[in-house]
Amino acid sequence: MKKSFTTEAINLKNYPLNDNDNIVVMFSRTKGLIRAVAKGAKRPKSKLGARIQMFVANQLMLFEGKNLDTIAQAQSVNTFSKIRNNLDKLSYSMYIAELVNNFCSKQYNNDENYQEIYSLIFCAYQKIADSKNRAQVLFCLLKFQIKFMSYLGWGLDFVNCSQCLKEIEFDNNKSALFSYDYKGFLCDCCKDDYLGETIRIHNKIRAFLLELSTIDFDKKTKYDECLTEQFLDKCFSFMKKYIDNLANKKTKIFEVLNRTTLTK
Ligand SMILES: [Zn+2]
Repeated sequence: MKKSFTTEAINLKNYPLNDNDNIVVMFSRTKGLIRAVAKGAKRPKSKLGARIQMFVANQLMLFEGKNLDTIAQAQSVNTFSKIRNNLDKLSYSMYIAELVNNFCSKQYNNDENYQEIYSLIFCAYQKIADSKNRAQVLFCLLKFQIKFMSYLGWGLDFVNCSQCLKEIEFDNNKSALFSYDYKGFLCDCCKDDYLGETIRIHNKIRAFLLELSTIDFDKKTKYDECLTEQFLDKCFSFMKKYIDNLANKKTKIFEVLNRTTLTK
């Protein structure tokens, strides 16, 4: 007899297994990433069909399998339905799903801090669903990116030099030197010895991201009301490139979306 277990999980991806069944990739509170078969989910009258949609969080009972588990029961906890009404919310939520999918395999994360990561994804989807404009969506995304990387042990150090580890004296009106290879900022001494590629990040961006890294997801920052979309876009591109570099691959969701927009 197959062993069963219960957990709460958020759907990150689903695809057909055959004419009747789907495979769902989920992030669970107790086991991290799991893949399970949703039997009969493609049949028109199946209750499972709605529950395996992207981003839905379910309370589940599953049967353990060798490669794939099987969903025995699913009861939705939150459908985050407002994510699906808006292309920005949808695409950035898919970006989160892609990141979790890419980084939460054993290759990257052995800490088993599943509970923390689960709450982070849940909270991010809740905040994105409730966002009133694109700037608010980007703000949630940045908080997610910074916290997610720090939970995986790859949090960015916004204060110290990535090489000599000394605190850098940043000039607020200037830009700071950053190396994607070194995965961090460089002080004036270390930059002279470094022959690789660096980019300049404005200190306002660095200071803002530093503040985001120190506060709780739910707390407001002193920047909340006055941030422009353009500024947030710059912060997001910087974080996205940092993360893409770590994974050695680009997140695909925005490429797919751009292509779809172009061909319309
Ligand atoms: Zn240094």
